[in-house]
Amino acid sequence: MSRRSTLRRAAELAAAGLISPAEMPAVERVEKVYAVAVTAAVASLIDPADPDDPIRRQYVPSAAELVTAPEELNDPIGDLAHSPVKGIVHRYPDRVLLTPLLVCPVYCRFCFRRARVGDADATLSEAELEAALAYVAGRPELREVVITGGDPLMLPPRRIEDLVRRLAAIPHLELVRFHSRVPVADPERVSPALAAALRPPESADLAVWLAVHVNHPRELSTLARAALARLADAGIPLLSQTVLLKGVNDRVEVLDALMRALVRNRVRPYYLHHPDLAPGTSHFRTSIAEGRALMRALRGRLSGIAQPTYVLDIPGGAGKVPVGPDYWDEAGACVTDPAGMGHPYRRD
Ligand SMILES: *Cc1c(COP(=O)(O)O)cnc(C)c1O
Ligand code: SF4
Repeated sequence: MSRRSTLRRAAELAAAGLISPAEMPAVERVEKVYAVAVTAAVASLIDPADPDDPIRRQYVPSAAELVTAPEELNDPIGDLAHSPVKGIVHRYPDRVLLTPLLVCPVYCRFCFRRARVGDADATLSEAELEAALAYVAGRPELREVVITGGDPLMLPPRRIEDLVRRLAAIPHLELVRFHSRVPVADPERVSPALAAALRPPESADLAVWLAVHVNHPRELSTLARAALARLADAGIPLLSQTVLLKGVNDRVEVLDALMRALVRNRVRPYYLHHPDLAPGTSHFRTSIAEGRALMRALRGRLSGIAQPTYVLDIPGGAGKVPVGPDYWDEAGACVTDPAGMGHPYRRD
């Protein structure tokens, strides 16, 4: 039911009260360039009376996207340059990305793959999937396959089960990791059958983890929390990824509430991403200095298990690295405590 009522056109967004009639011409221009989808579950979280609603800002298109800043790139983290076969991105020695499809439940206005997502024709054919799996099977140095997209939980449960079984049959793999926004964007899609499909066969010596993409505590609705519980109860270890977004979660109170809600729902915060240089997203970017200040504030407020690592994906494809803050000053032989006070500490 929720799938049928996904909003995709400016006229539908206006009829639902999510944009004003005056905004329609700009949104019609956006939808010619970038994919648009707002699920019923996401639409129900938006307060139509609040022009700055953080859920609207993430998913409802706006005129700001028509502005491409000079530093922005169609392929901001160099996926295409690191793709040896269709559907594989290989940047690190021990792990690869597998992108079986480029379809998502919602299209995020800040998406780093926004120039490519939404193309149903980009779904791997059986022959292409076989070639991608052969690439993995032929490289014993690979230990992990990260299944992303698009959103892999848009696949039917039997396709997911088939993919997990085929990966589990590759003897050198230790880990399969799914990345998905479905638990928050279309929580009813996380059926018991889907949760069961993610589990590796009993005989396989491999773990399947899932990283949930979520940016605001209000996205963890009653339905979303129930979806996370179905996954955790099925024995799937859960991680989270959050993108730091101006006007959405660039306040310590919001990040604090999000990280605590995740831990309470058995999700271990993993990464806080500095936004990539995707086209038409400059209105979402804070400075790295602001991100570091937020991370320092979180360190003083939250349990260690609620702390994500703040990372930047280096433009061009050199990899992801933590961008601090750091607490140890080597030159001054000084360590900073969570309250911001310096303490001398001996150099080794
Ligand atoms: C992000 C990414 C990964 C996974 O990186 P982790 O730091 O292990 O989460 C792997 N391969 C590529 C190409 C990536 O972009
Ligand atoms: S779900 Fe992920 S891949 Fe899809 S639009 Fe959002 S950020 Fe992009």
